[in-house]
Amino acid sequence: MIDSAIAREYLETGRCADCGVVDMHAHYGPFGGIAMVNDSPEQMLATMERCGVELMVSSGHTALADMVRGNAEITAITERHAGRWYAYLTYNPNYPVLGRRELEEYGNHPTYVGLKLHPTFHRYPLTGDAYRPAFAFAAARRLIVLTHTWGGSAYDRPELLAEVARRYPEVTFLAGHSGHGQFEECMAVARECPNVYLELTAAYAVRGLIESMVETVGAHKIVFGCDLPWFDPHYAIGCVVMAHISEEARRAVLRENALRLLEGRRRV
Ligand SMILES: [Zn+2]
Repeated sequence: MIDSAIAREYLETGRCADCGVVDMHAHYGPFGGIAMVNDSPEQMLATMERCGVELMVSSGHTALADMVRGNAEITAITERHAGRWYAYLTYNPNYPVLGRRELEEYGNHPTYVGLKLHPTFHRYPLTGDAYRPAFAFAAARRLIVLTHTWGGSAYDRPELLAEVARRYPEVTFLAGHSGHGQFEECMAVARECPNVYLELTAAYAVRGLIESMVETVGAHKIVFGCDLPWFDPHYAIGCVVMAHISEEARRAVLRENALRLLEGRRRV
């Protein structure tokens, strides 16, 4: 049995009073082709409550296909829950004119802490020219950029993240899914680039990986996420609290690193 007060409290109550979780990779709403049973704002907030998630940052599913409609939607939802729920502005490089307009329209809105990029979904490489306005925008405001990263992807494998992370040192990059399938390479990028953090969605389920990340990259470079409403936070939190890492590392991953990154970027 793991010797952890956080793990014990989770097993007994389903949450931890002094270690509220911060979810840095969440979504919102339905997604074509898959049924997600708790995808309304009310259900997502109830899930947070049940699982001891204190704060969450989301990009809307709609925004992946329809940036304009989806960003408006997530703005309206998250601004009603300021202090609890924040947003990433989705930027689609295939629509650079609209993208620029979105940056201008929402760039100073207090609900946004950064940008969400999904190069694989948009079939456009992270290193491509059409992303430049988004990176320049994020660099000028020192925003967080959560980008999907996936092993072997022509659009967002870890090597491509390394390239843009070096080009934009002012931007804080969260490597969504930690380059799933190319974990070693992604860990190397997070170790070498001070502005790259590993994000745990889906990666948490790989046995021994959290331990390996903490050992080789350091607990201070890992943030929690679980793609809510795709996956239940309890599973992901369980993977962290039952990992063979120190109690300090658990706190850093579940909560403290994210709060540090959000400091000064949360305007409400
Ligand atoms: Zn996601």
